[in-house]
Amino acid sequence: MNANKPRIVVLGAGYAGMMTTKRLTQKFGAEEAEIVLVNKHNYHYQTTWLHEVAAGTINPNQARVMIKDVINPNRVRLIYDSVVKVNKEEKQVVLENSELSYDYLVISLGFETNTFGIKGMEENAFFIQDIDSCRYIYEHIEYQFAKYNNDPEADEDSLNILVGGGGFTGVEFVGELAEKIPELCKKYDVERSKARIINVEAAPSIMPGFDKELVAYAKSSLQSRGVEFREGAAIKECTEDAFIVGDDNEEIKAGTIVWTGGVKGSPVLAESGFEITKGKVTVDGDLRAPGEEDIFIIGDCAWVMNEAEGRPFPPTAQAAIQHADTCANNLYALLNNQPLEKFVFDDKGTVASLGITDAMGTVFDRKLYGKTAAAMKKVVDNRYVFMLGGPKLFLKKGKIRPF
Ligand code: FAD
Ligand code: NAD
Repeated sequence: MNANKPRIVVLGAGYAGMMTTKRLTQKFGAEEAEIVLVNKHNYHYQTTWLHEVAAGTINPNQARVMIKDVINPNRVRLIYDSVVKVNKEEKQVVLENSELSYDYLVISLGFETNTFGIKGMEENAFFIQDIDSCRYIYEHIEYQFAKYNNDPEADEDSLNILVGGGGFTGVEFVGELAEKIPELCKKYDVERSKARIINVEAAPSIMPGFDKELVAYAKSSLQSRGVEFREGAAIKECTEDAFIVGDDNEEIKAGTIVWTGGVKGSPVLAESGFEITKGKVTVDGDLRAPGEEDIFIIGDCAWVMNEAEGRPFPPTAQAAIQHADTCANNLYALLNNQPLEKFVFDDKGTVASLGITDAMGTVFDRKLYGKTAAAMKKVVDNRYVFMLGGPKLFLKKGKIRPF
């Protein structure tokens, strides 16, 4: 390593890692810092579109972007490999196929599905986790349809789709299924009533804690399109073809079971000896890991405290993108002996899609429903595509299909 040129290593090319890398290339001249970006795949994917990939309402390729198309490989060293752990003492990152030293480190390895140890969930449920896992879900759903009229042994419940967890991911996913399932019924000559979409939520209502009026809107819109909700129904076990639910151990059967019951930070955090709270590291106000001068942890790997409410902000892409700005500013400040800034979250609102033409949410404290909200969701999705790759990427990967 050039002693005059510090090496900044960014781990993970999700929202947080990609935007940090982009900002670093804008802040530092090529002579000032060496920037390295490490990611499992040679592509970046839109985690916020994964429910659409899983339901088959968009092509997986629309939701991913080759990293070299938006990050100049002549400016940033790109390494496609899996991170195993960070050795903080040696300032070294262990990858599956090599090792890498750093002067400054950004950990932005994102989330992993959390099954909370529920019996059988890991083995029997699908997860909305990345492009591959979501493509697998859709292929499995379509296979169940293809099999139904051809296999005399096909189970009556095999077309049912069970979604465990009625948070934002579970609700957005059943919204996409409500669009896709009627299409598959037509394609495979199956009666619509044969394929049930059932969302199971432990709390008394889906989307616990969110605006009650908006939740009621979401529920009635989805129910009118054939989605069934089982609320106040805690999943205790997942078998090969069912959830076991509630105190009376009710069995709800399906041919496709998807768990959307929660997320935690990358397992690399624990493997590297960071102090973990509910699967993530609670970072300092400047987004550094406690006690670490040169390690930033951002995106879904970090709990960033909302001091006004005395609890962390929820893990979202909106927050991950904003972490990236503060992280890049603070790396610049660190390298130039300037004071670091504190992260301040600018909450622009939350919009949940309920299918292609419906959504609901709050934007700048205004409630939005229906087509207006769906249009706003597309604006948000497209804004990020534009930020990442300008008009060229927007034309290639943006959501420009008409309603
Ligand atoms: P990620 O986006 O998870 O990216 C992590 C990256 O690290 C990936 O490229 C991954 O391949 C890579 N990686 C992981 N492990 C390793 C490893 N060991 N080695 C190398 N690379 C690795 N938030 C919103 O604000 N708005 C929304 O509308 C919204 N919709 C969502 C819809 C769905 C279906 C889901 C699941 C989440 C949604 N979220 C939304 C939440 C949001 O997607 C996350 O908060 C966000 O993705 C976090 O960004 P990140 O950069 O921390 O991690
Ligand atoms: P979550 O933790 O927000 O929701 C999980 C849901 O599963 C909860 O409602 C919980 O009560 C339920 N659950 C947990 N255990 C259960 C059990 N045993 N039986 C039945 N239900 C159970 O997770 P998520 O929905 O994946 O969201 C993760 C993060 O991503 C959140 O911060 C969310 O805000 C964000 N997100 C945002 C959007 C958006 O803004 N449009 C979309 C998706 C996700």
